[in-house]
Amino acid sequence: MTVTGGSDGVAERHGGLEVPPGRLFIGGQWRAAADGSVTEILDPATGAVMTTVPRAGVRDAARAVEAARIAFDEGSWSGMNPRERGRILLRAAELLRGRAAEFAALESVNAGKPITFTRNIDVPTLIETFEYYGALASGIEGAARPTGRPALAYTRREPVGVVAAITPFNFPLILSATKIAPALAAGNTVVHKPAEETPLSALRLAEVLRDAGVPDGVHNVVTGDGTAGESLVRDPRVDKVAFTGSTSVGRRVAQAASERLAKVTIELGGKGANIIFADADIVAAIQTAIQAFVFNTGQFCMSGSRLLVERPVYRDVVEALADACGHIPVGDPFAEDTVVGPMAGPRHLAKVRSYLDRAASDGSVRVLGGGNTPADSGGFYLAPTVLDGVTQYSPYVQEEIFGPVLTVQPFDTEEEAVRLANGTPYGLAAGLQTGDIGRAHRVAAALRAGIVWVNGWAVLDVAMPFGGCKQSGYGRENGPEGLEEYLQTKSVVVALG
Ligand code: NAD
Repeated sequence: MTVTGGSDGVAERHGGLEVPPGRLFIGGQWRAAADGSVTEILDPATGAVMTTVPRAGVRDAARAVEAARIAFDEGSWSGMNPRERGRILLRAAELLRGRAAEFAALESVNAGKPITFTRNIDVPTLIETFEYYGALASGIEGAARPTGRPALAYTRREPVGVVAAITPFNFPLILSATKIAPALAAGNTVVHKPAEETPLSALRLAEVLRDAGVPDGVHNVVTGDGTAGESLVRDPRVDKVAFTGSTSVGRRVAQAASERLAKVTIELGGKGANIIFADADIVAAIQTAIQAFVFNTGQFCMSGSRLLVERPVYRDVVEALADACGHIPVGDPFAEDTVVGPMAGPRHLAKVRSYLDRAASDGSVRVLGGGNTPADSGGFYLAPTVLDGVTQYSPYVQEEIFGPVLTVQPFDTEEEAVRLANGTPYGLAAGLQTGDIGRAHRVAAALRAGIVWVNGWAVLDVAMPFGGCKQSGYGRENGPEGLEEYLQTKSVVVALG
């Protein structure tokens, strides 16, 4: 395979991976943006331009919505037997399985994710998500209800209509699949807008869905920035918005959708608290704490970015973490031993650096770890860093930094641990490490988060719903709950006499 429209460097470094020059995918056709404008896509490992994709504007977004609207109203997908839709999604999963290596490489090259992670986590999760919702599709059915009246009364489970799926840069494939697979299984049509920095795998996914038999206009992709995203959200022909991204943008999306009373699910930022009790297996707990904050270079909404440690073991844990930071392999995403790849783009790196610069000049904070990144690569690297001595209402604890940065705080009682854990505006993920089973259930119940892990972190499965409370958003993805978000119930009452 050759590089098309990309730099030779990409082909050399990744064994001839084909980086697609982007086109918008609208109504089954590949098109340039109406005004011809493009976005340069950078290789996070070198900072070099790899390729370009169209920067969709208002006209392109409207065109994609029109294609999705026509496809929905025409009914060949929405009116199809759900079992047949399910078969097409299962076929997509099979095609993805056959192209797994290519999808893993593309996701790594675009997002800077270590190849061992895209190979073992992102792509298998993508495939499982299409399999799961492909299988669930055949269970979409209404129910006959006894009413006590001379009538036959039953419910129908119907698709919502046209869905705008807007996704962030950090898990391009997984978070596309968690929206597209259930939306299609339910019979909706979709316009997907991936993040401006990481759109490449979404374009490849469009090819696969088309090849699997998804009809033209049912799945559309517009690459672009917030202009295209906002156009989709405001378009009256869009029935539902499924958004994952930052809390600040999510708030705007929810406002714009609510102005025209469109359905919306919003999956937003997080500031996950991981609590280590002194009764835990401390060696395992430290290992978990490291994985929880370095996974995906900390660009993880469910990152365990706040560590709360019971005072008797606090010093030992902090020293062990500081020591570990210097030994975590940071480097080229295509090296098999890399654990922490580059951040996805320069704006993300700059944001995280601004927090670290502030911490470095803050006399009360100890900055531990850091350093140790590949020199002169041009890539967006940042080494794992621990901030000790932070206070609960400092920005390091309250705000989502979204990089490999961990704050650590001591606590004395279970009640204090829960209070500190719940004491931010976010409520997405939380966890605790303990040897006490009663405490495990008690604290899990008391934590205000959409998902809680006990003696582990980031154990996720397509069967288990995830989503937020508080400023982390509302709605659920994954599980049967994820399908529910794309269905609505109609009651039919037939008079019998
Ligand atoms: P972002 O909010 O900057 O962008 C997300 C998407 O929204 C992108 O596609 C972007 O182009 C689009 N967008 C921007 N402005 C818009 C507007 N006005 N209207 C409509 N769409 C618009 O987020 P990001 O930097 O790409 O992603 C990181 C954020 O996503 C973090 O806060 C992270 O916690 C969050 N996130 C949440 C979850 C979750 O499941 N809760 C999962 C992953 C990431």
